[in-house]
Amino acid sequence: MLNETIIWSLLFALAGLLSGSVMGMAVYRLPLMIQNASDTRTTFNLWWPGSRCCDCRHPLGVLDNIPLFSWLALRGRCRYCNSKISWHYPLLELVCMLSAFGCALAWEHFRIAGSVFIYFWFALAMSAIDFRTLLLPDKLTLPLLWLGLLLNALYGTTALTDAVYGAAAGYGVLWLIYWLVWLLTRKEGLGYGDFKLLAAAGAWCGWQALPTILLVASLCGVIFALAQKVLRPDRGPMIAFGPWLAFSGWFYYCWLVW
Ligand SMILES: [Zn+2]
Repeated sequence: MLNETIIWSLLFALAGLLSGSVMGMAVYRLPLMIQNASDTRTTFNLWWPGSRCCDCRHPLGVLDNIPLFSWLALRGRCRYCNSKISWHYPLLELVCMLSAFGCALAWEHFRIAGSVFIYFWFALAMSAIDFRTLLLPDKLTLPLLWLGLLLNALYGTTALTDAVYGAAAGYGVLWLIYWLVWLLTRKEGLGYGDFKLLAAAGAWCGWQALPTILLVASLCGVIFALAQKVLRPDRGPMIAFGPWLAFSGWFYYCWLVW
């Protein structure tokens, strides 16, 4: 039984490692796709063209593309031009591998371990993008929302009606706050991506979860903003709210299926 658990967890870790490699690509390309959306000359998408060096544009071969190991073997440098390859890529791969392994150990049930890891994957990808660019791509927020509704339709971790109300209320509450803040201060406090992200959390966890998720995310966001003001005053006043929404939703879901 113990052996079975270990083998199953290792397989999960392998899938996590590969998904981390996809995440590296998504985190780098999705913001570029949004920023270049109006430019019809750019034809690249998430999968095409294949991986290439960010500096010399040389396409990467199979051996340069093995998650984690290629970066270590090349000591973080491009084989062709010797320029540095960001440590973000192996870090995301490592975190995905370890968290998939952890999910498989924590939840023996394949479906639950898988769903927890999928939510985590989306939360981490969106956080990395939001931290870097203050963007939350629809290509991540909307699939997460639909996945939450589908999982609850299929397995009913949360009653489907609660999930649908959760999605609608999650979007609606932040939409209301956004317009209230705008009317009072003429400032944009939130982005539309944040609305969709809270809608997704509602779709996964049900409307009952929204007050907790929003409260925890706001508290974490405020603490982070204060810390940034003290430690990194050179940074602008804008902070990303997405990471806090994404992870407080994820933690709530973990608690729900525990
Ligand atoms: Zn290169």
